[in-house]
Amino acid sequence: MKTIGLLGGMSWESTANYYKAINEGVKAAKGGFHSAKIALYSVDFAEIEAMQRSGDWDAAAEHLCQAALSVQAAGADALLICTNTMHKVAPEIEQKLSIPLIHIADATAENLVKDGVTKVGLLGTAFTMEQDFYKGRLEQQFGIEVLVPNHEQRKRVHDVIYQELVKGEIRETSKQEYLKIVGDLAANGAQAIILGCTEIAMLIKQADTSIPLYDTTQIHSDAAVSFAIKG
Ligand code: GLU
Repeated sequence: MKTIGLLGGMSWESTANYYKAINEGVKAAKGGFHSAKIALYSVDFAEIEAMQRSGDWDAAAEHLCQAALSVQAAGADALLICTNTMHKVAPEIEQKLSIPLIHIADATAENLVKDGVTKVGLLGTAFTMEQDFYKGRLEQQFGIEVLVPNHEQRKRVHDVIYQELVKGEIRETSKQEYLKIVGDLAANGAQAIILGCTEIAMLIKQADTSIPLYDTTQIHSDAAVSFAIKG
């Protein structure tokens, strides 16, 4: 079995869910006493969040490149960046590595294509919902039309992530707001919703809505498990 490299801590709340999902996936696939071989580097999210807020993406790329090289040196056979947002600097990281990067948007898009989804709603940080590194990738590389919430709703989705979810706070009022936004995206023609932030599945679950939800933490973890057990 191959070793999965995780670049985590963004936030640790969601990295804990990656750790569990990957181990559960290996257990389901291999049974017995099997568990995943994982090399994890967990950053201090305060440092990353400050760089995001000030727009210092070069510093963020440099910081994550060093961390990714540590994961590679620890014996990882592939790397996962355990956040949608920081895939903004995935090209810089990928360039420095000799091991493959399992890209969260690609893993998600492959599932959408397999399920015949051509128009999808996207929830995530403002960076993810508004910039080309994610939305553009789905549109240009996979031909999937991406709908995002309106300006006011995007701000609310973003603020709930940073003020509540990355701190492990789950509030019923925020859940209801998210579900209203999901409903609006569906009314605008979205056939499914990407939970494009690795903490959102802590707030809304498939049982809360009839529109299919694509949980990027689970999908990314599943892709890692497939890679690890293959061959
Ligand atoms: N985990 C989040 C994401 O998937 C947000 C935290 C971050 O900015 O990395 O985008």
